Amino acid sequence: MTKYTTLFFDLDGTLWDLKKNTQIALRQLWDSWHLEARAPQQFNAFFKSYTHHNDAVWALYRDNKIEKELLRVIRFERAFGELAISLDSAEINRFADAFIDLCPRQANVLPGAHELLNALAPHYPMHIITNGFSEIQMIKMKAAQLDGFFQHIIYSEDLGIKKPHPEIFHLACQKAACSPQQALMIGDDWDADVIGAMGVGMDQAFLASTEDVLNEIRADRGQKPLRHNRQPTYRLSALRELEDILLKNAPML
Ligand SMILES: [Mg+2]
Repeated sequence: MTKYTTLFFDLDGTLWDLKKNTQIALRQLWDSWHLEARAPQQFNAFFKSYTHHNDAVWALYRDNKIEKELLRVIRFERAFGELAISLDSAEINRFADAFIDLCPRQANVLPGAHELLNALAPHYPMHIITNGFSEIQMIKMKAAQLDGFFQHIIYSEDLGIKKPHPEIFHLACQKAACSPQQALMIGDDWDADVIGAMGVGMDQAFLASTEDVLNEIRADRGQKPLRHNRQPTYRLSALRELEDILLKNAPML
């Protein structure tokens, strides 16, 4: 029988399809702002540049090196700058606002997310731990019909502590009335989710698909792939692999 009594999920890139939803929202803005005419490159180059800078800027946010308001704008400033698309700072602010409005309303989930959650629901209490912003994450969960599955949604922003800080995992366990050893953290971010859970002795299921995308972009930029010198408890290439791990002889709630 599985030793887990409680499951913690990350949201962005783990259940809610961050890559696809971002791509759709940016494509719409790219078209409605007629950026094709102002850009030397195609949309795909812009999307890759944004993805690269967004990831880097989120790492700074996680380390408390920049504030939320700056994060929202600077990722676009860097991508537009890199591609020599000339927008002034007022335009970049408006673009960033338009993106924040449009992106969370996209409804795509990772392949198999609903099926997995439906299959797990009779067996485990499930919760979300997210570094994303509370006003945004609720919109995403409603749009993607992910909101009915979770007992607690633990927002780093409300607590003032971000993953991978141990305290957010301890607080999550307190809310869920479990010990770290009884829980599994499922997430797509090596540092926030895997290292964070490891730090409190919680098992981790690392969904590697986001990192695969980042590594493709790194290769395009002549950078080496990300390497980790530790092993997660489980490495997943798709969410459905969790069914084997969690549903054989699973306890009933
Ligand atoms: Mg994530």
